[in-house]
Amino acid sequence: MTPDEFRRAGHELIDFIADYLDTAPPEPGGPQNERSVATRPVQPTVESGDVRAALPEHPPTAPEPWEDVMADVERIIVPGITNWQHPGWFAYFPANISYPSVLGELLSAGLGVQGMSWVTSPACTEVETLMLDWMQELLGLPAAFHSTSESGGGVIQGSASEATLVAILSARHRATGGAVNADGATTKLVAYATSQSHSSIEKGLRIAGIGTDRIRTIAHDENFAMRPDALRQTIDADLAAGLTPFFANSNHGSTSSMAFDPSPEIGAICRDHDIWFHVDSAMAGIAALVPEFRWVNDGIQLADSYCTNPHKWMGVNFDCTTYWTTDRASLLGALSILPEYLRSAAAESGEVIDYRDWQIPLGRRFRALKLWFTIRMDGVDSFQERIRRDVALTQDLALRAASDDRFSVVAPHPLNLVCLALTGGDEATDELIERANASGTALFTRTVLDGRSVLRVSIGSHTTRAQHVDAAWELITRDV
Ligand code: PLP
Repeated sequence: MTPDEFRRAGHELIDFIADYLDTAPPEPGGPQNERSVATRPVQPTVESGDVRAALPEHPPTAPEPWEDVMADVERIIVPGITNWQHPGWFAYFPANISYPSVLGELLSAGLGVQGMSWVTSPACTEVETLMLDWMQELLGLPAAFHSTSESGGGVIQGSASEATLVAILSARHRATGGAVNADGATTKLVAYATSQSHSSIEKGLRIAGIGTDRIRTIAHDENFAMRPDALRQTIDADLAAGLTPFFANSNHGSTSSMAFDPSPEIGAICRDHDIWFHVDSAMAGIAALVPEFRWVNDGIQLADSYCTNPHKWMGVNFDCTTYWTTDRASLLGALSILPEYLRSAAAESGEVIDYRDWQIPLGRRFRALKLWFTIRMDGVDSFQERIRRDVALTQDLALRAASDDRFSVVAPHPLNLVCLALTGGDEATDELIERANASGTALFTRTVLDGRSVLRVSIGSHTTRAQHVDAAWELITRDV
């Protein structure tokens, strides 16, 4: 491809993306935007194997023109995707993108920077540090997370799952005084979380060599929040058995039901026993951008580590998890290895950050660009407006469900997720979810809360407005 061909293809591709994301209704008498995500079914109608079968089985032997590739994108790829940016997106969690974040991603790809160390691209490191400090300020997070704090700092991870793993490895390092690096012994370490915690907690623990027999599932209350009394009792029993409590996870907005564990109490217990206290607020933490929702941070001043995902509700396209720790020394102790070929005078001066030591892989992209672009060009007001709108729409929907005998609202709904069940029972709820999802106009996720089938309505797609929630309610209540 030549530079001029690239320029032309780039224009066409940006046009395509702009059309795809444009969900505005057509002007009266004007043409319909056939490319818009809003004109497509939320879930693709393809069967398993259809996409691959539509593509040549073997690679081409000669370069193909852009037009042919783009034609396949429109004909095969886009009809084969699930449309996460659809206004009828009520499934899983929002995975919002924004125009500035797409531009930031494009620039990151175009610059082709490999920012593993400060010296391999100083701007990559320094913009990232600044972005973590901006986010610390915007979210009202503890000063101990700031890059200028004595022992803390932040980094962009690819995902909350990676952030959790990094937290667990730091905790493991601290609990063993670094001995784990020499002998790998983890057999006495015990971790604590509720059954409502994200699966990435167990996955991270497994990767770190903590067997499921030493992952304690702490009882939750009727709101799906951890019971601190149960945590304390379990820790006492483990200590009496000669084990070493080393890691506890607190959910600030659990995936299934948006439960908030009581971090002030959990954090205090962890402090008493020098247990690493991690707060997972992957989805909900972004609500702290809005002053009246800053309660989502309650107790995180006690956290050793914390993560939230701008790649969910904030509008920075995946992947962008912001992770902070107050114990940089344990993080670096766990993850820093310095081969000769990575030595640099800058690193040895101690004045720069080498983010390769703050994450699992060595290599890293210039992900801070998309956060920087989004904050600068969309602005905090627009994030606040979206969050307030989504929460208001959710509260309105919850009210409708609560005053309808056919439904029960089965969990607290402080933000943008409401969990509903049909009073008719699990079978009826499951059938409702299947029917609604088959409509193609909206998508919901099923979960189970305390043994009961539940329809989750997650409101947070940047394209969703009141009329789409009205349509979703109409869809849910039709024929039940
Ligand atoms: N933690 C919570 C509470 C989540 O809701 C999710 C995603 O749904 C995750 C962790 C995992 O996020 P990621 O895909 O960034 O690993």
